[in-house]
Amino acid sequence: MKETRGNYGSDPRLLISKLCFPRQLKSPKTLTKPKQMATEMTTNTIWYLRKRPVGEVAPDDLELVTEEMAPLAEGHVRVRTIYLSLDPTNRIWMSDMDAYLPPVEIGTPMRGGSIGVIEESRSESVPVGSIVNTGLAIWAAYNDLPGEGVNVLPAIPGLPLTAFMGPLGATGMTAYFGLTEIGQPKAGETLVVSAAAGAVGSMVGQIGKNMGCRVVGIAGSDEKCRWLTETAGFDAAINYKVEDVGEALDRHCPDGIDINFENVGGSIMEEVIARLNDFSRMPLCGLISTYNADPDESTGPKNFANLLMRRTLVRGFIIIDFLDRFADGFAAMASLLMDGKLQYETDIVEGLENAPTALARLFEGRNLGKLVLKVSDEP
Ligand code: NDP
Repeated sequence: MKETRGNYGSDPRLLISKLCFPRQLKSPKTLTKPKQMATEMTTNTIWYLRKRPVGEVAPDDLELVTEEMAPLAEGHVRVRTIYLSLDPTNRIWMSDMDAYLPPVEIGTPMRGGSIGVIEESRSESVPVGSIVNTGLAIWAAYNDLPGEGVNVLPAIPGLPLTAFMGPLGATGMTAYFGLTEIGQPKAGETLVVSAAAGAVGSMVGQIGKNMGCRVVGIAGSDEKCRWLTETAGFDAAINYKVEDVGEALDRHCPDGIDINFENVGGSIMEEVIARLNDFSRMPLCGLISTYNADPDESTGPKNFANLLMRRTLVRGFIIIDFLDRFADGFAAMASLLMDGKLQYETDIVEGLENAPTALARLFEGRNLGKLVLKVSDEP
């Protein structure tokens, strides 16, 4: 990890492990008695990064390898992956751009977050049978991790495990802190969000609605736009693939735009920037339209000067920045969820062997809500 990117400690695995849940959320009810340690060898299946992708991820950029696992080390737990989180940032980690975490090295396992079940434990604090969020792990059927690096998830009746990757996971926290801390929404203001039907965007819009904003989403299909207005309660939605985005924004945002929650970048961002109000805010969350592009060839918004003229607050953020406040974000999102004020979708693809092709769904806009790979059955 580059020290210049912030003082988050030297081990990204331990850092991101805290991304989804603070340890105090551990529920004793979910814990079972430790079983005897397994003695048989476990065969693991792991995705290795073989090449840095150029453009979209190609089939030979990654390789699925089967190998025997070493015996579990003292203080560690063996986690069978149930769900692997597939995120746009996986693509960032595959490239060697100057990012917030070091890239995945060529010839090493692909990095990713997951939820799994402890099948073997040599850690006093995490018994066999616990369902845990691994934080930063690898794309594999099993992960051996330090016991203190995993977070036991609470069992909440009626709540699917995958919700801990969506509204109650890192994407929910991204939406919550990005909007409330940087967007600073006030009732009556107009909020525009891009990639609006995705994991982060769908949460942003609904949090904004709950705070009294007029919310306009931009998404890539009529089906997604219908979901936004009919299910998620957005005031309007724009299908950027068939509509003139500028003309549609003029129509749906007659009083201009006070908050642009930016997930996409490129020409969509420019159309929004052109319509920002004085003293508007722009949480810069993601630029997915650029992740497959050559970083040397990407350009900034052509109407950058408008941010000066409108005195817009632009702040890039990475959810890591809000790590120490996750308990607050979790409580706020859980409360909205329990009050029936958050609708969410989970897009589940099955099979570890499908990880790279499933990841492509994010860049083709084929997911609705949080994209998750089901690797094995829940206990
Ligand atoms: P999503 O579930 O939103 O999936 C990505 C979506 O982006 C796709 O469904 C697609 O929807 C849209 N998209 C893809 N390519 C393009 C393109 N070229 N132009 C316009 N839209 C495109 O993913 P997430 O919710 O996980 O992430 C959304 C954004 O938030 C990403 O930029 C990601 O990097 C960022 N992020 C940032 C975090 C942070 O800490 N700063 C944390 C988590 C995510 P459509 O059909 O509408 O095209």
